[in-house]
Amino acid sequence: VILVGRRARRRRQWGRAVAVLREFEEGCSTSIGRLRQVVDAMAVEMHAGLASDGGSKLKMLLTFVDSLPDGQEMGIYYSLDLGATNFRVLQVELGGRNSMILRHKVESHPIPQYLMTGKIEDLFDFIAITLQNIIDKNGVAEHNPDLRRELGFTFSFPVRQISSSSGILIRWTKGISIENAIGKDVTQCLEEAMSRRGLNMRVAVLVNDTVGSLALGHYHDEDTVAAVVIGTGTNACYVELTEAIIKSQGLLTNSGGMVVNMEWGSFWSSHLPRTPYDIALDDESPNRNEQGFEKMISGMYLGEIVRRVLYRMAQESDIFGDAAHFMSAPFSLRTPLMASMHEDDSPDLKEVAKILRENLGMQDVPLRARRMVVRVCDIVARRAARLVAAGIVGILKKIGRDGSDGVATGRTKGEFRRSVIVVEGGLYASYELFREYLKEAVAEILGEEVARNVVLRTFEDGSGIGAALLAASHSSNR
Ligand code: BGC
Repeated sequence: VILVGRRARRRRQWGRAVAVLREFEEGCSTSIGRLRQVVDAMAVEMHAGLASDGGSKLKMLLTFVDSLPDGQEMGIYYSLDLGATNFRVLQVELGGRNSMILRHKVESHPIPQYLMTGKIEDLFDFIAITLQNIIDKNGVAEHNPDLRRELGFTFSFPVRQISSSSGILIRWTKGISIENAIGKDVTQCLEEAMSRRGLNMRVAVLVNDTVGSLALGHYHDEDTVAAVVIGTGTNACYVELTEAIIKSQGLLTNSGGMVVNMEWGSFWSSHLPRTPYDIALDDESPNRNEQGFEKMISGMYLGEIVRRVLYRMAQESDIFGDAAHFMSAPFSLRTPLMASMHEDDSPDLKEVAKILRENLGMQDVPLRARRMVVRVCDIVARRAARLVAAGIVGILKKIGRDGSDGVATGRTKGEFRRSVIVVEGGLYASYELFREYLKEAVAEILGEEVARNVVLRTFEDGSGIGAALLAASHSSNR
């Protein structure tokens, strides 16, 4: 009798955990029908954001980059890549013919936590000092040390550009919050810090990371039309016809086109599969009601969504034993750990057990419960990857390359035009299952025939090298 009672109790507990899982899974549904709605919403919002400032949650920011590197760039250029928790400095030597990058060097530096919430002058002074040390170290490689160095500044936050080399910070994302920088020209702030350090350097171009990635993609492959970053945050940019940028009427460019920084992290649509966990995460975030798409997709948030679901399961049932409290701390499950658990292919889920034990302090989680953890990771990663796929197809639709209209796709001689999309960022680069889900969903939405002509490419250090290339093509020494 006692045994039967215990078994019934255990079944009830599992039933509760499974109910939490099922409800979550349903809420995250990305059926093909829903993905198509997201595709359409993305294209519609892109139009609205191009029509007027504030016309959409999608900012569709002008970059003033109207030509992309063509392979003729020559000389030594620098780039400074400020994204989230690190900043990277690159020195790139360009060969000048046929897309030759002779060599490039990278140094990555963590940003001390106290500088991420302090004053912009302190952060940029710190960066300028580090930059100077790096240049001093590498100075011998330059033929003419008196020459003013040209810098491509990759600044991966929403900026209202005034020109291709300057712009005003609209707001921070990804957990950085330096209040006194909002509304300031970030190029001016950096140049002032550099001159305080006596650094003879000029910001030749100020770009978003997606724009740097697009530039490198285009340097190697002229069919490159867009770039997507999926890292701590997420975003996309693409090449738009100037005549389609209604809000900047009268704007003329030599090429007739301009790169538009979509800031798609703030995309929103009622078609997005949003669950109570997403709502709670948003409510408790410092940027509530902002970056809604980003909060379902990027590296800063995926692990946290998983944690919230697991915590709920642990509260509703005893499948994790008495370890519930280990999962109560926000952001204690980081996305790289989530990816490792998700990709654990050992039959007894050894890696999952190890991560739960060593990182969350949860001892002896039974195999069945570990499988549940993997299921939750799968649901969260799959939803994110499929939403990115819908976003990419939304861009293709906007520029008439999604195959929905035989004329606009540029179907020539019975063929679809090849479209290359650069996809970069730490999450994408280090999460194989995420990449697989993304590719699979692009093919599912577009159909095999069109999808064959949509190529996703990745380059290492793309945004940094791309910014150096843009510094070269925008250089006053050219
Ligand atoms: C920022 C974008 C950036 C993206 C990827 C987002 O949070 O708003 O400007 O491109 O992260 O780094």
